[in-house]
Amino acid sequence: MRVRTLPRLFPLILLASPCLAGQAHPADRVERLLEELSNAPGPSGFEAPVREIVARELRAQGLEVSTDGLGSVIGVLHGSPGGPRIMLAAHMDEVGAMVRFVTPEGMVKFQLLGGWLDQALVDQRWTILTSQGPVTAISGLRSVHITPAEDRNRVTARDDVFLDVGARSKDEAEALGIRAGDPIVPATAFTKLVDGRYTGKAMDDRVGCAMLLETLRRLKEQGSKTPNTLYFVGTVQEEVGLRGAHTAALAVKPDLGISLEAGIAADHPGGRADWAQERLGAGPVIYLADAAMLVNLRLRDFFVRVAADANIPLQTEVTTGGAEDSAELQRYAAGTPSINFAVATRYLHSHNSMIERADLDRAIDLLVKLLPRLDSKTVAEISRF
Ligand SMILES: [Zn+2]
Repeated sequence: MRVRTLPRLFPLILLASPCLAGQAHPADRVERLLEELSNAPGPSGFEAPVREIVARELRAQGLEVSTDGLGSVIGVLHGSPGGPRIMLAAHMDEVGAMVRFVTPEGMVKFQLLGGWLDQALVDQRWTILTSQGPVTAISGLRSVHITPAEDRNRVTARDDVFLDVGARSKDEAEALGIRAGDPIVPATAFTKLVDGRYTGKAMDDRVGCAMLLETLRRLKEQGSKTPNTLYFVGTVQEEVGLRGAHTAALAVKPDLGISLEAGIAADHPGGRADWAQERLGAGPVIYLADAAMLVNLRLRDFFVRVAADANIPLQTEVTTGGAEDSAELQRYAAGTPSINFAVATRYLHSHNSMIERADLDRAIDLLVKLLPRLDSKTVAEISRF
């Protein structure tokens, strides 16, 4: 198969990309934090490496930190006593997989954790997290030379996908430490594409974790006491059923809930506004409807009002796909006003998701403006029907 020779292209790429042309901004605190979070391995049920980062950042801001019985981490920022309890939830888990067994030939078969497209699984690099350390694996793809024409555009079914770690036998694979139950994550490094656009694994929902932690840092920096108590929560097992949001809400007992998420952007070739309306670079997003929740209308209006006052562009999303922690918060106790607040993200649940930095900055700006306005009177007004 002939390919276009690189030398002719290179100068063009150099001119076209601001990064290469030396215009890129040095990585700042938020970018470094997002990079660390995106690169950390944390599939559902195996969130420890991410929890360590979140707990570290919460403690760095002087918060008392605890966990619920499922492993969600909770940091409390006490404001004026007797104020409403506001829960901010970002999930620490990412979609991944788990080792089912090793074949006699040393190949690894796995089970998926969270929602994946079968077509996203083959010909990828993965990391198996064994008790003896990380092991690199590739999801092999049959060579085109031995694939009949009628099969060449067929997607390999998930149960036919296998991981090859280069082992020659089951014993050799097990000598690497691979065991049934070991977690598996995409092996993708966080990368800055053009100035202000990032790609990496697990933007869903490490962008939410970055939003949570940077909002806290900014509020602390402001130094003013909020008229409420803010609970900064890193939840677990969102991708397998919003499980940590359920247990964390029972621990926090919120009066109002906000999930901080990666939104579903379809602003790419073949995408349609009927599926999702949000676009990279057009501002943070509030979800009006998704597969699991209809937004609380007064909380929606409150977000719209504060964004308008602060001159921050706010997008809305009406989609049939997706379910977020806010759906679980909304069903806490006898019903709790909740909203899903997101940063538009392309190619969710793949090795290469993408966000726009400006959307993250504006989302944090809006939260820093909005949270101090959630006093008892406002929360009571929002909770009224
Ligand atoms: Zn998510």
